[in-house]
Amino acid sequence: MQQYFVKTVLEINQIVALDEQQSFHIGKVMRMKASDTIVLVDDAKQAYEAEIVETGLKCTVKVLSHLERNNEMKAQVTVVMALIKKDKWDFFLMKATELGAARIVPFKAKRSVVKSDDEKLDKKKQRWMRIIEEAAEQSRRQCVPELTDPMTLKQLKNVMSDVNLIAYEKESGSGKLFRDCLKSNQSVTVVIGPEGGFESFEVEELIQMGFECVSLGKRILRAETAACYALAAIDALVE
Ligand code: SAM
Repeated sequence: MQQYFVKTVLEINQIVALDEQQSFHIGKVMRMKASDTIVLVDDAKQAYEAEIVETGLKCTVKVLSHLERNNEMKAQVTVVMALIKKDKWDFFLMKATELGAARIVPFKAKRSVVKSDDEKLDKKKQRWMRIIEEAAEQSRRQCVPELTDPMTLKQLKNVMSDVNLIAYEKESGSGKLFRDCLKSNQSVTVVIGPEGGFESFEVEELIQMGFECVSLGKRILRAETAACYALAAIDALVE
């Protein structure tokens, strides 16, 4: 069943009006009709089955029943991702959402070829959030990952977790693996470098802050692949 997020807390039998974008998707893209059923996820991260009452510009649905399910990863994972080229960045946002990231932090790394000019930031973040929300709906998640403003190296101390890791390419063949770093029910922050990798001063500063280096295996992965590997490895270990 198609899923949609609604910005309210739902109750059984409640009649809910969906927004224009959701109504268009239901009526014109999915060609659904009255009495077809969908899934709504509310602000309390609870999933409900709902029945379409009326399609059109503002589709209305009736909440039928609560769904006992939780599709979220056990660990709260923050992915600090160095800004990379646009198409790979969009791919990363989609896959990090599907793979369960709880928070995404764009990182202004020294070797990031993409600069985050502040004047266009609002427009960029709106587009980035649309990619994230669509991926969260498609993967039936119970929550939409938080997307912060781009951060500098020093600001990363504000997004640390129980476990704080730098995926450092120079540790690729020999460094610690995720299984050596994770314990169950811990939140994790993992930092991924840009296409050109980390500057050594960035790694040193992160270690000073309390991060430790982790290897993503023997091969050198593209940045967007590295983020996927990290999330999948953590998910496999904590599930
Ligand atoms: N230019 C770097 C080089 O040739 O060594 C590679 C950078 S890689 C394309 C981008 C980021 O992915 C790295 O900064 C790191 O965060 C991560 N990464 C890729 N492969 C990795 C590995 N085997 N172990 C740890 N991190 C890795």
